[in-house]
Amino acid sequence: MPDTSLPSCPCGSHQPYSRCCGLYHQGAQRLQAPTAEHLMRSRYTAFVLDDLAYLTDTWHPSTRPAALEPNAPGTRWLGLDIRTHRQHDAENATVEFVARVRHNGKATRLHETSRFVKENGQWLYLDGQFSN
Ligand SMILES: [Zn+2]
Repeated sequence: MPDTSLPSCPCGSHQPYSRCCGLYHQGAQRLQAPTAEHLMRSRYTAFVLDDLAYLTDTWHPSTRPAALEPNAPGTRWLGLDIRTHRQHDAENATVEFVARVRHNGKATRLHETSRFVKENGQWLYLDGQFSN
């Protein structure tokens, strides 16, 4: 029976946060997302929760911004939709997703194809290409 007492994960998996993205945000499995799709979900949830340390730690050093800003006041993340997950080889994958965010009442859709690389056993976000 599903445990409905726990809040469900912001990534839309319908799992409790503590058994979904929370596994990779803290504790023994921190940064151990098993696939690029899991990493993508956990990064989306980190954006929702303003977990800037996690976003930094899962961003490839070559493309990582010098500093990350928390969400501006009035920002609300509305949901994540994973469109495709392609594993190209053991160390390269792409994930196409649509994230919806509302800022001061105005809803925006982010449609991105992100590239992920695996280094030293850890999946990292490399970069992304926006589409309409
Ligand atoms: Zn999740």
